[in-house]
Amino acid sequence: MKKARRSILFTFDYELFLGSRSGSVSKCLIEPTGLLLDLFEKYKIKGAIFFVDTTYLLRLKSESDTAAKADYVKIIDQLKLICEKGHFIFPHIHPHWADAQYVESANYWSLTDFSKYRFHHVFPELREELFSQSVNLLKEIVDTCSVKFPVNAYRAGGWSLQPFEDFKPSFEKHHISHEFSVVPGFKNLSDAQYFDFSKCPDKVIYKFDSDPTKETENGVYTEYTISTIEISKKLYWKNKIWLKYLWKTGQRSMGDGVSLVIKDKELSKGRKEMLGSANREMISIELLNLMKLREYRIFLEKNPYMHFISHPKMISLHNLKTFERFLKHAISKYILITDFNQLR
Ligand SMILES: [Zn+2]
Repeated sequence: MKKARRSILFTFDYELFLGSRSGSVSKCLIEPTGLLLDLFEKYKIKGAIFFVDTTYLLRLKSESDTAAKADYVKIIDQLKLICEKGHFIFPHIHPHWADAQYVESANYWSLTDFSKYRFHHVFPELREELFSQSVNLLKEIVDTCSVKFPVNAYRAGGWSLQPFEDFKPSFEKHHISHEFSVVPGFKNLSDAQYFDFSKCPDKVIYKFDSDPTKETENGVYTEYTISTIEISKKLYWKNKIWLKYLWKTGQRSMGDGVSLVIKDKELSKGRKEMLGSANREMISIELLNLMKLREYRIFLEKNPYMHFISHPKMISLHNLKTFERFLKHAISKYILITDFNQLR
């Protein structure tokens, strides 16, 4: 029997923790990403996308401390390896890195000022400068690799892509034509993260011009929406118990930092609203464990398109093992298309 085709996008936010302790480069980036690259190589998967927190790299580059300099070199080497192995690196901007404090004695960063979390809260002239520096940094890396591709895609930090007018001039200037931030049905209106994707076209991939939640026929930009999966009440509780077990047996995320915690009334409200649609969650390697494997397989059976959003820093060895089982199953049953350039 002929195998059916399935489009699966494996996308990653390549970043440290964005809270009071960033965690280390080796635990949050190098080690988990290395394991992911090995897995993709083993199953001959190409076209994974790593959205690189370029604002962090720009800060790191400007630091004169030797440990920070060594971190920078390690990251650049891994980004080159990612490209050589047939995957992509594209920018992912978290502007509040501008206010990060470097803790030299322990070689980590502290991000407690999130007033510039949104691109919207950065002065317009600075936005374009930040965007240009981000794109140029990645272009320089790609230029040194044997595999070439245009740096023409983007994912906004914290999914905060709205209002799109903030980004449009930079998208135009740098010929960014592929966008990966929209999570249909999700919404979070806080001072920091700010996005409203509650009303989106009834399509997983569509064109747009000035509003990423409104389809424009022949629009300049292509939106590749992030996939979400329904979690039943029963699975929710089963998962909660399973997570407790994993935690107690030390099967935790590889990253060693602390996530952004904002004690802000507006954000809590935003979180609640996000949780309001909470029988759904994003499809993600760090959320995939043994309890959810069956649901992920069913999702792939029912949907021709599946867009994973994952964070190396959040992934545990258990997640990776389960993801490998998912991959094996997917490859045995379907012809997989994993390069976004082949999807239209
Ligand atoms: Zn991010």
